[in-house]
This record gives sequence, structure tokens and C-alpha cells, in this order.
Amino acid sequence: MSGAPILPGATLGVLGGGQLGRMFAHAAQAMGYATAVLDADPESPAGLVSQQHIRTAYDDPQGLATLAAACAAVTTEFENVPAAALQTLARSMPVSPAAAAVAVAQDRAAEKAHFVRCGVPVAPHTVIDSEAALATVDAAALLPGILKTARLGYDGKGQVRVATPGELAAAWQQLGRVPCVLEKMLPLAHECSVIVARGADGSLVHLPVQRNLHRDGILAVTEVFEGNVPPALAGQALAAAKSIAQGLDYVGVLCVEFFVLEGGGLVVNEMAPRPHNSGHWSQNGADVSQFELQVRCMAGLPLTQPRQHSASIMLNLLGDLWLRGPDGAAATPPWYQVLRLPGCHLHLYGKASPKPGRKMGHLNVTAASPEGARATALQAAALLG
Ligand code: ADP
Ligand code: MG
Repeated sequence: MSGAPILPGATLGVLGGGQLGRMFAHAAQAMGYATAVLDADPESPAGLVSQQHIRTAYDDPQGLATLAAACAAVTTEFENVPAAALQTLARSMPVSPAAAAVAVAQDRAAEKAHFVRCGVPVAPHTVIDSEAALATVDAAALLPGILKTARLGYDGKGQVRVATPGELAAAWQQLGRVPCVLEKMLPLAHECSVIVARGADGSLVHLPVQRNLHRDGILAVTEVFEGNVPPALAGQALAAAKSIAQGLDYVGVLCVEFFVLEGGGLVVNEMAPRPHNSGHWSQNGADVSQFELQVRCMAGLPLTQPRQHSASIMLNLLGDLWLRGPDGAAATPPWYQVLRLPGCHLHLYGKASPKPGRKMGHLNVTAASPEGARATALQAAALLG
């Protein structure tokens, strides 16, 4: 990346048009940039709010050329963008994060190898990528475990629980015999994540450690306030996230997810080379959001350490909420009553059709104290049903 900053007025591009791209576009536009989105879906949430929406596949040469012509820099909101597309774009403009870093995050095996290189503990695991690997695996040491596809898994998809050695072959079959990682099930006390943002000059800032609750493999709640994670663990998680970013010479926003074990140990789970659902609270609870950090990183603007000003809780709003009720058609939308509560900030992604498990939006609850945030979030959750 060249040293000269890209100034407002320029167009910033994003590969992927989901809600993360939409919130990136909002942050970029607030700072005076225009945005261009590449996503084949004509109704993509980011495409709907951007000055330009290029509706092609990520590997379409014409689409990539159009994006390159429009933009001064490009980022991604989706880790499964082909690394080759990022490499093509990088020939003519700054691309952050770089293709090499995204390629590591795309592959659980490569990702775990990187974590180990950085000296950060990972769950005991092995790679199953062939009949021979399946035949020779010492499964007993890793069971009960979870077989996860090395690529393309998200929100608990592409995973099968394996209790006994006899179930392993069927599980691999069920996942299409693609390369997989077999990982030991660990006793989790809770989960947490850290978002770091690193500039091309090596400057690095971070959001506070976030405590996450998943339901059915999908993030449901994130809590961010003093004491939500023991300080020693928070310190370890932050140090690990920094070394993981530095080890990749990473430029951009990176989310690293951790397991906190029942015994108190910390294990890194996975990383996302982009803003993350668990960082959405920063839109209302911190003075710099994860999306503004993404804009600053890619445009080469100075990075300042975000300051959390409110105890924060984020509740995801899934399509299930919209589909409930006798006929699925209540008089007011599911979030309506919640807006009567103090410090509730509604974010909806402009998606027309709710589906079970589909992320339609989120609610950020802010308060002066953790107790206040908890009380409001509990009331909101009760209203949401
Ligand atoms: P995804 O890419 O779908 O987010 P993860 O590897 O993060 O996949 O798994 C989803 C969730 O499943 C985790 O957030 C955690 O709750 C649970 N999980 C995954 N791996 C393990 C493990 N080794 N031990 C215990 N729980 C796990
Ligand atoms: Mg995960």
C-alpha cells in the first residue's frame, strides 16, 4: 500500500454485499467516501445503499475490472471471496486485507497452523483430507469431537458431531468427503472475541474483549463491559489477537474468536478477516466503530484507540422472529415494542425475506452500567419472545 492516504470523495470498494458490507458503506459514506459493491445478488444489503453495485460473481473478470476502474481501494466483507480476485485487484490498487491473509482465514487447517506458529493454543485436532488420513487417524484421542469442513463453514454449517470412532467415516461422507478438520470437543465456560485493526504502517488498535453467546451455532448475544471476562484472560486474548494479526502482516479489521475453557484456559477457535457480528455493539457503545476502523485502515487514515463509552449488549435479530405468531403476520414488527426501552438502537439490514436463522438485523443496548444494560437487554429479549 502506498503511503498517501485516500481522501474522502474517492470511492471505496467492497467485495461482498451482505450486512457487513452495508454497515461498511454507511461508515464510509458518513466520512464522505462513495462506495462500490461487487455482489451478484440484485437485492444485496450493501448494494442497496452504495453508489455503485456491480452485479457479477466474485471471479468475473469484467466485474473485477469495473470495480477496479471505480475504486481507489478495495476491502472484503466476506472471507470466501476467491483469493485470486483479491490478487487481481491488488495489481492496480491497495487491497486490504491482502489475499494471502484472507487465504489463511479461508482454511481451518491453515488458520490453525498459523495460530500454532504464533504460539497461541488451539483445540487438539487433525486434518482429514483423504481416505488414507481417515484410515490412520488416532480418533480416540480427539473424541467426542466435531468434524468441520476446512473451507466454507459458517454459523455452525459444515459441521458434524462425532461421538465414537465408528461414526467418523459416515460423518466425513456426510460432509462430502472434502478436506476437514477433526477437533476435540472442549468443555466451554464461555466464548469471547477480540477485534483488532491494523494499518499499513503497522499501527494497531483494538476493541475491548467481547463475550459471546451462541445458539445453534449462531451468535445470539454479545456483552461488552468491565468484568465480563476475567482481566487476565482478556489480556491473554488481546495479546494473542495482536500476534495473530502481526504474524500475517495484516492490514484491516480482524476478529479472533476464542474459547474460555471450564478450567480457565484460553484456546483460539477461528478468525474472520473483516468486521464481525460480535463487534456490532461498537456502532453505539464505542466512539469508533469496527466499520469506521475498516474505512480508516483501507484508506490509510490514522488509527486511534477506540474508547468504549457505554456498557453494551448486542442481540441478534434472526428471521425466526418475523416468522413467529399464528400466521407470521403480527400487527407491528417484532422489534417495535423494544424501541420504548432506553438505550435500544435498532439496526436492520434491508433484507426482504425472513428465513429461520437468517440475520435480519441486530439491537444494540447501551447503558451507563453493566447492570443497566443487562436489565434493558432482558426486557428486550422478553419482548422479542
Ligand atoms: P463457525 O465457522 O460455524 O462459526 P465454529 O468453529 O466457530 O464454526 O463453531 C461454531 C460453534 O460451535 C462455536 O462458536 C462453539 O460454540 C461450538 N464449537 C465449535 N468447536 C468446538 C469445540 N472444539 N468444542 C466445543 N464447542 C465447539
Ligand atoms: Mg465461529
